[in-house]
Amino acid sequence: MALNVVMLGPPGAGKGTQAERFAREHGLPKISTGDILREAVQSGSALGREVKALMDRGELVNDALITGIVRERLGRPDVTPGFVLDGFPRTVPQAEALDAIIAGRDPLIVIEMQVPDEELVRRVRGRRVCKECGTNVSAFGAGPGLVQLCERCGGELVTRSDDTETVVRERLKVYWRDTRPMIAYYGARPGFRSIDGAQSPEKVRQALISAVLQVAAAVGLSPARGAGA
Ligand SMILES: [Zn+2]
Repeated sequence: MALNVVMLGPPGAGKGTQAERFAREHGLPKISTGDILREAVQSGSALGREVKALMDRGELVNDALITGIVRERLGRPDVTPGFVLDGFPRTVPQAEALDAIIAGRDPLIVIEMQVPDEELVRRVRGRRVCKECGTNVSAFGAGPGLVQLCERCGGELVTRSDDTETVVRERLKVYWRDTRPMIAYYGARPGFRSIDGAQSPEKVRQALISAVLQVAAAVGLSPARGAGA
């Protein structure tokens, strides 16, 4: 049996970090379409040149191209114990394509990380980057008050230019426009669960693990014993 996990969640929810950790702890490859596209562009492969040409023209990578990338990636042997998909699908047509790709395999386990928009905006407002070394920090820090200087190098902390509230709200608008229909697409399946992503990272980690195990049982998979080990 394989744990074929799909992670859904708004930008800034910490989905990539949670997906990464879950994948590592369960011996599964984490598959991020963003990473694949970046690597392809850097490698200068045929795919990479196609992607770069699209980006240079300011166009989005279309469903057909991104679906082709995922189909190829999910055809590799390292996904036998399962996978954790992050950043795909983003639309209902992509979700339909994914169903076709994994036809005949173990059912998908789809986990939605829910974080209220206002919490995401608050997090972004509090994000600072070190001018000297580039470290990202939360201005709220661990203790009381705002963090003033970089803990690593003592550099000045500044607001990231792409972190303005307007940009975040625009990203959230796009996310909800494309994702609400996808939640409807997956929502009625026994393989779908929502978890509270506004908790501490450790609590989210635990919620994610128990949701995956519950779903695995609900869709008739035996527990994740030795997956990928
Ligand atoms: Zn620094």
